[in-house]
Amino acid sequence: MKCISHNEIDAVNNCGNCGAGLCQECVKDTIFEKNNKPLCWNCNVQRALKNDTIFRTDLGIKQITIGVYAVAIVIGLIFFAMGKLFSVRIGNLPPVITMLIFWGIGGIIAGFINRIQSNAGFLYTMLVFFLRELSHRFL
Ligand SMILES: [Zn+2]
Ligand SMILES: [Zn+2]
Repeated sequence: MKCISHNEIDAVNNCGNCGAGLCQECVKDTIFEKNNKPLCWNCNVQRALKNDTIFRTDLGIKQITIGVYAVAIVIGLIFFAMGKLFSVRIGNLPPVITMLIFWGIGGIIAGFINRIQSNAGFLYTMLVFFLRELSHRFL
């Protein structure tokens, strides 16, 4: 039996859900298991979509949001201090405006992250898929 994702490679295991053949690489890449067996990519995606709430906790969207706010506030303060102390300015803007712009950008990004949290499981799966494809292509 050959791997379902890499049809030129021999399967070393099969999907615990649908029974599709999986090569060493796919076994290593599986996110979920069922009955102590790895899952194929399709079944991983299905599981991820079902387990959205688990991913939501795992990803810690709240912490990420707070982190984005914190970074934006710190960068804003740094530019404010540099503007005041060393006259380092962005496009001649008063330091306090530069600071507020950074805070605003941070707020927008944090708001966006918060909004997509209901799709965290899906986004996480897409990210893993993307990284996996990259590693197959360039490693
Ligand atoms: Zn499967
Ligand atoms: Zn494979």
